Amino acid sequence: MPRYEFRCRTCGDTFELSRPMAESSAPAACPAGHDDTVKLLSTVAVGGTASAAAPAPRAGGGGGGCCGGGCCG
Ligand SMILES: [Zn+2]
Repeated sequence: MPRYEFRCRTCGDTFELSRPMAESSAPAACPAGHDDTVKLLSTVAVGGTASAAAPAPRAGGGGGGCCGGGCCG
C-alpha cells in the first residue's frame, strides 16, 4: 500500500499515511486532529527544479504485482 505524506497547515506538522491509491486524495486529519491538511509529493525532491514534471508511476511501489498491468492507474 502506498504511503502519502501530508502537512497540516494548522500546526505545521508533517505525517505519513498508508492508504489505497483510490483514497489518495481523500481528506486526512493530522495526528493532532486538525483537518486543514495538504498532500505532499513524497519521494520528490523539493528544490526548485522543474525537470521532474513527468509522472513516475512505477517508482517506489513497495509490493504487490498489480501495478504492472495498469490496474492501478
Ligand atoms: Zn495539525
